[in-house]
Amino acid sequence: MAELAQSASLEQIENVRVKVLGRGGELTELLRSMREVPAQERPAIGQLANQVKRDIEERIEVLKNELRRRALGESLARAPLDVTLPGVQFPRGHIHPLTQITERLLDIWAAMGFEVIPTPDIEDDFHNFGALNFPSDHPARDMQDTFFLGDGLLLRTHTSNGQIRVMERRQPPLAVVCPGACYRRDELSVRYSPMFSQIEGFAVDEFGKITMAHLKGALTEFLRAFFGPTSQVRFRASFFPFTEPSAEADVRCIFCAGTGCRVCKHSGWIEILGAGMIHPNVLRAVGYDPQRYSGFAFGMGVERLALIKLGVDDMRLFFENDLRFLTQF
Ligand SMILES: [Zn+2]
Repeated sequence: MAELAQSASLEQIENVRVKVLGRGGELTELLRSMREVPAQERPAIGQLANQVKRDIEERIEVLKNELRRRALGESLARAPLDVTLPGVQFPRGHIHPLTQITERLLDIWAAMGFEVIPTPDIEDDFHNFGALNFPSDHPARDMQDTFFLGDGLLLRTHTSNGQIRVMERRQPPLAVVCPGACYRRDELSVRYSPMFSQIEGFAVDEFGKITMAHLKGALTEFLRAFFGPTSQVRFRASFFPFTEPSAEADVRCIFCAGTGCRVCKHSGWIEILGAGMIHPNVLRAVGYDPQRYSGFAFGMGVERLALIKLGVDDMRLFFENDLRFLTQF
């Protein structure tokens, strides 16, 4: 008991425990040799030995508790801890706004019976330009616009390669949307990014079964599903090498309801997508007879639709991945 003084360290306590109470300890030995004690003295000595054992065990317990209490006190003095403070909140990830918009767009087309087929980002000149009726001197092929990879490969400048890739290996009837990343040599700015996303869509069937009226109907249905059932839609004649006739679709500006604002450049309309009837040369390029088959095609920029739908005015925000921005969606 003298060795189990108030100041005993954990090590000293353990030494005493082993020396006295351990398997070969003094008291353990003594209890083991009780048989050699004369029978009439045995109860008294046994009782005494057990009492000593209990006293030492209690003393050890008291000292250990005191050591624990002291260690806690020291640690609290070193780094004060307010246990009533709320814990650290770890931010939870969620789906990026551009991915959310892409999924919404594809859901609308899928609900109209369009199959979703991704196609490659890395292309050759034929699938990105040639088969889409781009003349060999078309400025879009220029080094200024296209990232060329060497060996005749390039990063696709639009998802229209999806039309060629799918039609090459499938036969009509087809109704397909091809989502994916596209690349052009633009500086990242308020309106442009060197990498952006598009969704290409097209439908092909026997000649005469799919007309410009179907294209207009499908796009109107799509735009109302995306921007709301009361959205007003208009079509303007346009030009693209891979469609004839070609059109662009606008929606009534959702920021000013058509009265004119900065976003719609005071026209009351916002340009949303390009479309048209697939050019006979494109059908020929994939081995379809344009006398036998016809179809429509459209292409839309996902970032542009996201900017308008989410009311964001700077394309760069989507790519900077600042959590203060992302967590708003
Ligand atoms: Zn406006």
